[in-house]
Amino acid sequence: MGPRHPLGVHAGRDSFAPMTTATTSSADPGAAGSGPALAIDIGGTKLAAGIVDADGTVFGHRQVPTQQAGRDADQLFATLVQLVDQVQATWVGLRPGGGPLPVVCGVGSGGPMEPGGEAISPLNIPSWRGFPLRARLREATGLPTYVDNDAKALTLAEGWRGAAIGARDYLGMVVSTGVGGGIVLDGRLLDGERGNAGHIGHITVEPDGRRCRCGSYGCLEAEASGTAIAAITGRPPAEADAAVIARTGTLVGRAVATVATLLDLRLAVVAGSVALGYGDAFFAAAQREIDARARLPYAAGCVIRPAGLGSDAPLVGAAAVGFRGVGLTLQNEEGGGGERGE
Ligand SMILES: [Zn+2]
Repeated sequence: MGPRHPLGVHAGRDSFAPMTTATTSSADPGAAGSGPALAIDIGGTKLAAGIVDADGTVFGHRQVPTQQAGRDADQLFATLVQLVDQVQATWVGLRPGGGPLPVVCGVGSGGPMEPGGEAISPLNIPSWRGFPLRARLREATGLPTYVDNDAKALTLAEGWRGAAIGARDYLGMVVSTGVGGGIVLDGRLLDGERGNAGHIGHITVEPDGRRCRCGSYGCLEAEASGTAIAAITGRPPAEADAAVIARTGTLVGRAVATVATLLDLRLAVVAGSVALGYGDAFFAAAQREIDARARLPYAAGCVIRPAGLGSDAPLVGAAAVGFRGVGLTLQNEEGGGGERGE
């Protein structure tokens, strides 16, 4: 379809290969192919869990408001385990014929976290500071467990079952209360030394802009997140006028153009309540800015589009984190028969 859709290559079987930094696991990837994932989404608003099969279909989704889940770290974890038990019981009920039990537990969570989620400290869950989520879940579920940040999880989900199917190189983003992201390059999700690759919220988009919670200023998150928009306008982000929507899109496009040029990629898929809530006007402004700033031939034509997965995305992404952890290739609609990544 020409330069606007340069990503018609198949993702290939190498997509989403396991992290080279993955710690030891007793899981047999072959065995993982025979069962679903127990998927968990940890957020400041809610804790959610479900069973996700190898096709990315979510079963038995349950959730509980994080604020009601418990005041201290152990109460919160106990509520999470309860939620997981209910989901597992529902799955067994759905599969009376003895369908496969989950073979891996995958988790997407707000950060920051230590690499691999060995200790997580989600900004909006104050009772978990350095909480050893991975070890605790492994112990509670008996499953090999993998934890990654929610934006990277979403990025995997979009390549597997969303708006980036078939793309070997793309940026996934979440523009909501905060701004996060993940990058798939050469068919692989990037981790980086500390697991934070793709953290696009802290690219500078306004050289003299607002102070950011990271300590810098003019970061994308400090200018275009829901939190920033509320601070700038004095109103909830959902009540933003056309000028604010256009500015938000422009700044997101500015960051995307930088990343596209740096990393030689031509697709960005964007989720999150701010981006999706603002809709067409946001995406049009972002695209204009990308077209204006990504000028080198390899980056020109970079496309920004809404994420394709709706409310399922966090659990699909969490499952993808788990399957990736045990080395299972995620088959997407265009994958499997395509070119090998390497
Ligand atoms: Zn920042």
